[in-house]
Amino acid sequence: MISDNYIQTFQLESSSIRGRIIRLGSELEDILTAHNYPDSIANLTAETITLCALLSAMLKYDGIFTLQAQGDGQVKMVVSDTTSQGIIRGCASYNKEGFIEGEIEVNALSYIKYLGKAHLAFTVDQGKNTERYQGIVELKGKNMSECVQHYFIQSEQIDTGIRMAIGKFEGKWRAGAIMLQQMPEDHDIKSMDKNNTHEDDWRRAMTLQESCKDKELLSPDLDGDDLLFRLFHDEGVRVYERKELSRGCRCDHKRVEGILQGMSADDIEHMAVEEKIEITCEFCNKTYTFEKDSFLRKIEK
Ligand SMILES: [Zn+2]
Repeated sequence: MISDNYIQTFQLESSSIRGRIIRLGSELEDILTAHNYPDSIANLTAETITLCALLSAMLKYDGIFTLQAQGDGQVKMVVSDTTSQGIIRGCASYNKEGFIEGEIEVNALSYIKYLGKAHLAFTVDQGKNTERYQGIVELKGKNMSECVQHYFIQSEQIDTGIRMAIGKFEGKWRAGAIMLQQMPEDHDIKSMDKNNTHEDDWRRAMTLQESCKDKELLSPDLDGDDLLFRLFHDEGVRVYERKELSRGCRCDHKRVEGILQGMSADDIEHMAVEEKIEITCEFCNKTYTFEKDSFLRKIEK
């Protein structure tokens, strides 16, 4: 069984409340160390990656789920995407020269403040099969999870609770999160205890979820199933198959070339250094090199 870097669906048997748990270790560490970000930016990027993977359940078919925050603060953008195959990536863009790192709070998810006035967009792209879906909300609240919870409750009428922890465990980045959701259609399902309403069920589940400690979410020594049992044993937990999450990038030479082809000859001239154009992928730091002249010829054709 996969013990780390996975996402798993579960259900509380007493109330039909649905849940997802995510645990990220080495794959997250590898994404973040490749970027060499200050700790606060790494934290914010990890928060985005973790939340993106949690929400990627919105993909019903093969496709890509993207979560992106853009703002006017020190951090201009932080973005992550997750494919239906469980490939994750993420990056942030910020003013490297002028960046002032505030006090680092261990395991705190408060770095959305670096985005200033910002909005959060999530996009479900399932290729030709279905329409592209995009939701945009103002980024407010204490952290990104709170903002997403608010969105689901207000816009989708889906009760949503997210409990997340990001932090370093023995010097290496880790993340863990649990999301609970109660769909409106599940309100009709009778609670096992006839005296309970679905509001009661939801409140109880939220209290149990809130009791989860950061250390429990992050510790590689506590298995996810054991954690779920520890939290929800009175409710009865049914767990489904784990899905592996691994880091990866979809950039390639052709794709980058395609972007360059959309640019004007002036822009190409401007970007060239010693007759060469170098483009580095923001997600994975891979550099693609093009000959300026051969490229200009391609554009002219
Ligand atoms: Zn890449």
